[in-house]
Amino acid sequence: MNSAPELITQARLPRWSLPAAWPTQGAQPALADLRLRDGRIEAITPHTGTRTDGWNVQGAPVLPGLVEAHTHIDKAFTLARLGALKPGLLAAIETMIADRETWTVADVHERASRCLQWAFEAGVVKLRTHCDWWEPQGTPLAWNVLRGLGEEWAGRIALERVSLIALHLFSERAGARTLAKAVAASGPGACLGAFVHSTNWSAQSLRHVFEAAEEFGLDLDLHCDEELNPQAAGLATTAALLREIRFSGRVVCGHTCALAAQPEAQALATLDAVAAAPITMVSLPTTNLLLQDAHTGRTPRQRGLTLVKEARARGIPLLISTDNVQDAFCRAGSFDPVEALAVGALAAQFEHPFDEWSETICRGDWLTRAPNTPPLRAGAVADLVIFSAADSHGWPTRAQSRVVLRAGQVAAGVVPSAWRSSVRTEHVEASA
Ligand SMILES: [Zn+2]
Repeated sequence: MNSAPELITQARLPRWSLPAAWPTQGAQPALADLRLRDGRIEAITPHTGTRTDGWNVQGAPVLPGLVEAHTHIDKAFTLARLGALKPGLLAAIETMIADRETWTVADVHERASRCLQWAFEAGVVKLRTHCDWWEPQGTPLAWNVLRGLGEEWAGRIALERVSLIALHLFSERAGARTLAKAVAASGPGACLGAFVHSTNWSAQSLRHVFEAAEEFGLDLDLHCDEELNPQAAGLATTAALLREIRFSGRVVCGHTCALAAQPEAQALATLDAVAAAPITMVSLPTTNLLLQDAHTGRTPRQRGLTLVKEARARGIPLLISTDNVQDAFCRAGSFDPVEALAVGALAAQFEHPFDEWSETICRGDWLTRAPNTPPLRAGAVADLVIFSAADSHGWPTRAQSRVVLRAGQVAAGVVPSAWRSSVRTEHVEASA
């Protein structure tokens, strides 16, 4: 790794990361200078033009380390061996059940490692993966592989794993306790999860999920209402349960597509309850566009996205992520959250992708019990992603070229020579 300089000048930081009093240039936040020391951000100040050493990134958009809040690295890269696929979510689940019979430790390890390498090169510092879990007793093969990968990748990517368990396995309280106990016993980075859908709906089973998670001190991450059936009740019931049983962990609900199919007043009332609960939402634009309203030979009419703007307007922590990559669910994706955000920016018509919506791929703290530590601040680790060929107006267009810094060291990407062109030829120091 190469060291980055102690000074990065003329960085364009997103508005969401800056204090309200930050100066503006026209309608844009003024450019920033970042001083780095010992692998951390020492100071972030408005650009002054008094220093010409270090890197002058010339207005390049800069984000903190990225977050993949919702992936399936146990299933990724199986597409090549699956043969012909039927459209839709439920058909994809059937295909994966058959493929899983062939999984070995070496197979899962190779595929999941490739996912983590791609994510690392994209600038991801934290990745949460779901892991299919169909065993009422014992733990799946892939779960143990993922636990080992968490240790292998420590210091590069914080890997969290969620047990993706069909809701019917929680129908008995004793069975729910057995599952939660196994997840909790598997060590750090584990969350309890469930697949909550109108085809397997049971409010009682969902209650068991909450009770078991509470008993074993687990956070929850649900696949929730990933469908366009307006009757889907997973999210609304989750919000109600969370308040009723005073759940102490963090609750994350992914997908929640059904909100987009429900009567507006009902959907907004559910979002009000989600904001009060509180619940973190995760939107997966790529797979929702591919799997919702999907029928062979028919153009989809609905987008399948949850109500991302209404959620954000209510202050609900909302993240955007990749979901499946090269498996029965989705052939697209590359474990680059910027790519997922770019899909969302078009599908949901984001007005300010960089200044507003880039927050949805950076706030790893929104997955934790203490969701109040924004990552771009003095004192934070200098994990930075500098988009070397993009500008803040067009971002995420041309966002592929990037320099990834981890703890102040260049971890991926090529540093443009133009950033160093003024290096120390006329060293001007304003002050000591
Ligand atoms: Zn998923």
